Amino acid sequence: MATVSIHPQVDEGLKPAAANFAGGTLYCHCTDGTVAVSIKGQAAHNHVCGCTRCWKPEGALFSQVAVVPRENLSVSANEDKLEVVDPTATIKRYACTDCGVHMYGRIDNQNHPLYGVDFIHTELSSEQGWAPPEFAAFVSSIIEAGADPANMGAVRARLKQLGLEPYDCLSPPLMDAIATHTAKAAVALAH
Ligand SMILES: [Zn+2]
Ligand SMILES: [Zn+2]
Repeated sequence: MATVSIHPQVDEGLKPAAANFAGGTLYCHCTDGTVAVSIKGQAAHNHVCGCTRCWKPEGALFSQVAVVPRENLSVSANEDKLEVVDPTATIKRYACTDCGVHMYGRIDNQNHPLYGVDFIHTELSSEQGWAPPEFAAFVSSIIEAGADPANMGAVRARLKQLGLEPYDCLSPPLMDAIATHTAKAAVALAH
């Protein structure tokens, strides 16, 4: 079986999280006027994502994306270079207008189940010890981005080998949390 490349951060195996990890700084790919985003503390729910909207490094089948509380994120340099990729999307992805790298994603709708956390790509930081990915989300969606449907068995097998359970939506705990939020909101509306 030919080796399936998932993402540069996981292809060699997952690196463990560091205890008491303090956070780090994410940098875009510009050598000049680099955008910097400071993150306090560890990221949560890190995963590889096959959707067509998350930023992926060149040649990768999946993106790698995690969340942090929005109050733990601040743009520390060249914020004027950031622009929202698609203002109509639920997650506003702030990308560098020069190199195209997505620096963070934010949900403005306060009623959204995932409001309050920002989405980041920890690989943009040189610090070691970020929490590694825990699962693979939206696996079937890589076909929409041009992946060969005939190769999906090999892709899912490689994800399982890496310990990244493949899902075609988010992981069951996250889907449950979203459904719980939706159910509570429905009850609140009915009263
Ligand atoms: Zn840039
Ligand atoms: Zn995604």
